[in-house]
Amino acid sequence: MGQQDLHRNTSEFAQAGDETLRQRGYRLTPQRHLILQILRAEQGHLTIEQLLERARQQYPSATLSTVYRTLDLLKELQLVREIHFPGEAVTYETFIERTHHHLVCRQCGSILHLDISSQRALYEAVQQQSGFHNITMDIMSTGYCGACWSEQQSNNVHKVEAAPTSIVHDQNN
Ligand SMILES: [Zn+2]
Ligand SMILES: [Zn+2]
Repeated sequence: MGQQDLHRNTSEFAQAGDETLRQRGYRLTPQRHLILQILRAEQGHLTIEQLLERARQQYPSATLSTVYRTLDLLKELQLVREIHFPGEAVTYETFIERTHHHLVCRQCGSILHLDISSQRALYEAVQQQSGFHNITMDIMSTGYCGACWSEQQSNNVHKVEAAPTSIVHDQNN
């Protein structure tokens, strides 16, 4: 998925989000709209503290508990996704698709969003085999990003090159 597509999807989501709140009988309060807007603009993952900090720029009276309550509602309406990356604080992002795939680097922690067509096939299979309804899928893959991988490879090369020298050194002692 190109950056362009992501922008288009996100702005379609923006209108849909406000509309979902209205259709389900919830008022589109300024705080609800603002939280959606902040997450949309971010196009990534924010902790609750980061969300609060940004919300306070427009509503200095915003508190952690109002942001929590807003997120609870937005999660229930499937407008927001809660993500638990291993060893990190819980983060939130906009809910765009029922399937969501994160690829996380084991070394630097960088996160990539994957949009692959096989997710849809997997989604259909899970739904058919389980008889479950309204399924959401959160997939997490881990590995080494290009930069971390080549850093590791070159470290390995240096270790191999250094080995004979250190053996000679040990013998001299
Ligand atoms: Zn994500
Ligand atoms: Zn990395």
